[in-house]
Amino acid sequence: MNAYRGRFAPTPSGPLHFGSLVAALASFLDARHARGHWALRIEDIDPPRCPPGAADTILRQLEAFGLHWDGRVRYQQDRGQAYAEALKRLEARGLAYPCSCSRKQWREHPVYPGWCRDGLEEPGKPVAWRLRSDLGPRPIRWQDRLFGLQTLDPAALGDVVLKRKDDLWAYQLAVVVDDADQGITEVVRGADLLDNTPWQRQLQHALGLPEPRYLHLPLILGDDGQKLSKQNLAPPLPATEPEARPLLHRALVALDQAPPAELASAPATEQLAWAIAHWDPTRLLAELERPLRDTAV
Ligand code: GLU
Repeated sequence: MNAYRGRFAPTPSGPLHFGSLVAALASFLDARHARGHWALRIEDIDPPRCPPGAADTILRQLEAFGLHWDGRVRYQQDRGQAYAEALKRLEARGLAYPCSCSRKQWREHPVYPGWCRDGLEEPGKPVAWRLRSDLGPRPIRWQDRLFGLQTLDPAALGDVVLKRKDDLWAYQLAVVVDDADQGITEVVRGADLLDNTPWQRQLQHALGLPEPRYLHLPLILGDDGQKLSKQNLAPPLPATEPEARPLLHRALVALDQAPPAELASAPATEQLAWAIAHWDPTRLLAELERPLRDTAV
């Protein structure tokens, strides 16, 4: 049995757009090229940000592009208990603490200065939970498969929020708990999350969890040089296979995989079979050297 386990973990704040297709496709190809497992996790921990039906639309879009996942879809909505247990463990080890401070109070500081570490500044007010950044290993180091060696002092990041004052779980805790629970060995995702990785490494260490390998993808920019995202209204992807074909080809081009031109109108399964066989993420290294893109990101 192959040990590779990858995942795609979209936040269903809207339908997938071209930028998210590229991330989904890259993690799919990386997993399938390695004959590994590819899981789908819907990161719906923030219901106010997730319109009803968006998760189902994402599933239909992935199917249309031939990006079939293994096993059952996981929804973070169902995982509150696991996050609560992780927080309890951190608290028991003295690594997590409640914090009543508001952003306004510490706005003159670059990051939260940790005032509540030794007791609440203002007892009786609603609290968030934070991770102590001063107690783990420093600096945090990891090797990104594309961006190379990353080094960061957790003190420069501050004490990350694990649970918010409105009682919602924070992305950093949820993603780390679920990546470990699903046995994820390889994380392939957009470079917009590169600077979240040190927090995730900190948390993995604090919880005694294994550390997956990471490959961050250079961001896809629109014609205006802006990052493609739901916020700047990148158009949603189609949800039918014939409409998906040209976009799948474009996504392979965006990943620098140089797909043959005659594949552009081929069925998704045919394009994917070619792309799995030829997958080479090191082709993306050229993207990192493009000065225009770098500054735009
Ligand atoms: N849910 C996150 C997003 O859609 C991605 C999480 C991840 O891949 O680690 O941006």
